[in-house]
Amino acid sequence: MGRRLLFLGPPGAGKGTQAAMLAKAIGVPHISTGAMLRDNVAQGTDLGKQAQAIMAAGDLVPDELVVAMVKDRLSQEDAACGYLLDGFPRNVVQAQALDDAIGAGALELALLLEADEEELVQRLLKRAQDEGREDDNEVTIRNRQQVYRDETEPLVGYYPDSGVSVVAVDGLGTISAVFARLVTALADN
Ligand code: AMP
Repeated sequence: MGRRLLFLGPPGAGKGTQAAMLAKAIGVPHISTGAMLRDNVAQGTDLGKQAQAIMAAGDLVPDELVVAMVKDRLSQEDAACGYLLDGFPRNVVQAQALDDAIGAGALELALLLEADEEELVQRLLKRAQDEGREDDNEVTIRNRQQVYRDETEPLVGYYPDSGVSVVAVDGLGTISAVFARLVTALADN
């Protein structure tokens, strides 16, 4: 049987990289709303046009747009035997919409990648500089962290209240060290 997992963690903690590796290792699709939205922007779809400026500012794309996109994705065949959600839900409204769509308690586990906020900001600033990403300036980077703290972090309390355990994993260290911790956390939970 596949597993229905969810990944939580602040921007810049390496969530996308780890989620992709972990999904591959356990044989479920990696469903990243950030990646899906970026595809829509790149392809110039209506959704992409609506999302572009919001994403550039580091704010959240409206719930109804993201929820519709995720529901559509979850209805595809490959998601029938499990998935790893990355970047969704991003707030309690989205979490409730997910519960409504798949049934409360259908999620097995939430993995929380933990990292120090200031360290993440410094890491993201350096990356923006190295890669010449002018859209990733300090204001946007700090806004993303704030949005995470205000909107997404409350899910760390929401899930245990609705019967889904949240397992915290230290996000500090090399990609392979963090990955090993995640694999252990999954095996133990
Ligand atoms: P990410 O790659 O997960 O950091 O997402 C990049 C950007 O896409 C975010 O800063 C948001 O603007 C947008 N985004 C991704 N997932 C969601 C979501 N579940 N709800 C709203 N906006 C999202």
